[in-house]
Amino acid sequence: MASHQNPFHIAQQQFDTAAELLGLHDSVRAILRVPQRELTVNFPVKLDDGSTKVYTGYRVQHNLSRGPVKGGIRYHPHMDLDEVRALAMWMTWKCALVSIPFGGAKGGVVVEPQELSLGELERLTRRFATEISILLGPDKDIPAPDMNTNAQIMAWIMDTISMHRGYTVPAVITGKPIEIGGSLGRLEATGRGVSLMVRETAHQLMRSLEGLRVVIQGFGNVGSVAAQLLHEQGCRVVGIADASGAFYCGSGLDIPAMRAYSVNQSHRQLTGYHAPGVEQLSGTELLELDCDVLIPAAVKNQIHEKNAVRIQAQVIVEGANGPTTPGADAILSDRGIIVVPDILANAGGVIVSYFEWVQGLQAFFWDEHDVNSRLEHILVRAFNQVWALAKARRLPLRTAAYLLAVQHVAEANMIRGLYP
Ligand code: GLU
Repeated sequence: MASHQNPFHIAQQQFDTAAELLGLHDSVRAILRVPQRELTVNFPVKLDDGSTKVYTGYRVQHNLSRGPVKGGIRYHPHMDLDEVRALAMWMTWKCALVSIPFGGAKGGVVVEPQELSLGELERLTRRFATEISILLGPDKDIPAPDMNTNAQIMAWIMDTISMHRGYTVPAVITGKPIEIGGSLGRLEATGRGVSLMVRETAHQLMRSLEGLRVVIQGFGNVGSVAAQLLHEQGCRVVGIADASGAFYCGSGLDIPAMRAYSVNQSHRQLTGYHAPGVEQLSGTELLELDCDVLIPAAVKNQIHEKNAVRIQAQVIVEGANGPTTPGADAILSDRGIIVVPDILANAGGVIVSYFEWVQGLQAFFWDEHDVNSRLEHILVRAFNQVWALAKARRLPLRTAAYLLAVQHVAEANMIRGLYP
């Protein structure tokens, strides 16, 4: 069971810890503690049966000091403004930590997309894009995919904004299909980044990837790509869970077979998957499996005060945003479990979004090798900075990452000064 702690309070608590350690001035602290802009929209969508339903959506811009704002759009039935606020704030720190010139934003619609037909999904997306279009633009606010949204949805958003303007505006959104200006490597970028963070952490701990026992919660765009890349590098992925169930095999799951299976299922889930030697577990049991690396790559608040004492992994690499509560962080840190925080571990997605934006603005496109090697360069550099600071000051990696990120944003804020 997930914890029900309010994610925005968690985000503020994490920020306060960093602000305190940095001795941040009260005025800067007050500015960065809350989002700069919040837009709530209620908008009608015509459903296939002829009825009309009003949906609620949000776009929150946390901080614009370092550039236009960046962050995904999610579709989820249990979403509220506080969750979007937290996610927007985390994007600010993520972009600052990896030194890409963006502030943080996030958006979403309160909807269960699986209940909509393709036509309804398109109408909902186009109307939501129109409602938040007052905020969007290549040098203002650039959305991207997040939970339950994908390249097709990004294409509809790009088309909607372009129709309003009367010309094509590829750089208004990232995570687009390649055919209309998407970047090679973007789809896999978050999972690739997660796998790089596993590799770098293993390297620091003088562990080989060969035979490393990995457990992954989530088998979507992040979890399944991370699983595949780690499997290819010799790791033994012993546990995988998605919304349909959890699967365990001590000698290692057949990741390519599981990926092939899930793509052929409706909603791309592992429902009904079985293979010789594979046991079914509960989602709770999966997190507590004996393993070397645990990758929560699903939803928020999965590792909390109640289960943190039972986690057996030596390292946690956060593929999801906000999977660990501050209470759990304290327990894990006391127990010597290393947590590679979300703002570093899952930054691969927004880094390649940055590349996509740059490519779109220049109308000059890179090959996949270029994209992947630049991603690796940026992410490994950030990892090394966080690791070095954590070691020097004996801090958990999350605190070290926050110190670096918050400092960058605070400096930008102070250098720009207060208007008017
Ligand atoms: N939704 C992703 C994240 O949480 C990517 C955001 C982006 O590419 O702008 O980092």
